[in-house]
Amino acid sequence: MPGALSVPWPTLPSVDDSQAAVATLAGPHERSLSPSRAADFMTCPLLYRFRVIDKLPEAPSPAAARGTLVHAVLERLFDAPAMARSREAAAGLIEPEWDRLVAAEPELAGIFGAEATLSSWLDQARSMVHRYFTLEDPTRLEPAHRELHVEAVLASGLRLRGYIDRLDVSPAGEVRIVDYKTGTAPRAEFEARALFQMKFYALVIWRSEGKVPRMLQLMYLGNGEIVRYAPDEADLLATERKIEALWRAIRKAREAGDWRPRRGRLCGWCAHQHLCPEFGGTPPPLPVAGVPLVSQAPGQEDAGTLAHLADLVDL
Ligand code: SF4
Repeated sequence: MPGALSVPWPTLPSVDDSQAAVATLAGPHERSLSPSRAADFMTCPLLYRFRVIDKLPEAPSPAAARGTLVHAVLERLFDAPAMARSREAAAGLIEPEWDRLVAAEPELAGIFGAEATLSSWLDQARSMVHRYFTLEDPTRLEPAHRELHVEAVLASGLRLRGYIDRLDVSPAGEVRIVDYKTGTAPRAEFEARALFQMKFYALVIWRSEGKVPRMLQLMYLGNGEIVRYAPDEADLLATERKIEALWRAIRKAREAGDWRPRRGRLCGWCAHQHLCPEFGGTPPPLPVAGVPLVSQAPGQEDAGTLAHLADLVDL
């Protein structure tokens, strides 16, 4: 794959998130898009409609909740001093982080039928966290940012935004974007799709900070693989053109009220199958006036336990 690299990364300096947050631009959010919602539209325009226009609720699932838990543990792990970031310390975070997630989102407690299920589910989360340690040594790096909210406005006025799992900055100032996936690495033919989200983030960093990230790194904790990609300006310009074209297609669908279902691998996980014509359902009437051209309120697009649904299907 052109641009794919496998290189060691140097030990990194610590940067205070509150002081060094990547350009978060103030102002109204009339036209904005996150990678999750862009992926929704590419997967199925009707799914995008259900989530963005109808804003239909989705019940949490054990698999999506596990993704949220593993991400929370890996974020919290770096609160500890470098030498204290052991496997045991990470494993010790699993149950407290789960309790914290349930306290914030009580419906999570109801996703298991029995205590035994919760126990085996926690074991799966534990395995993923252990697998992380086979991929890198957290005592040798110091992330600049974790769960970083990023935004940038393109020349067209379209605002791009999202959350980056981890941003590393080398002593030379080179940027690495890291994303944890709780699924398995995609087959080669789906790898470009898996990298779309990362190029989206790289474009946001480039447009807001003027610097092309040196490395995009996807860490698949389902099977212990890493996919690395070194983007260049041509890559990011192509990503920008693709996103602009996607946004035009979204606007066109909205203006025409034409949100066609696209049957595919995601259907098995779709919470709205019962409303989908592909499965004999009927979508609700479209909301009428006042639907803003915005994917979701800022901060909501990646919140909740369904944020990692894409992990399940190698998007
Ligand atoms: S069931 Fe499949 S085709 Fe129907 S809305 Fe969901 S993802 Fe789209």
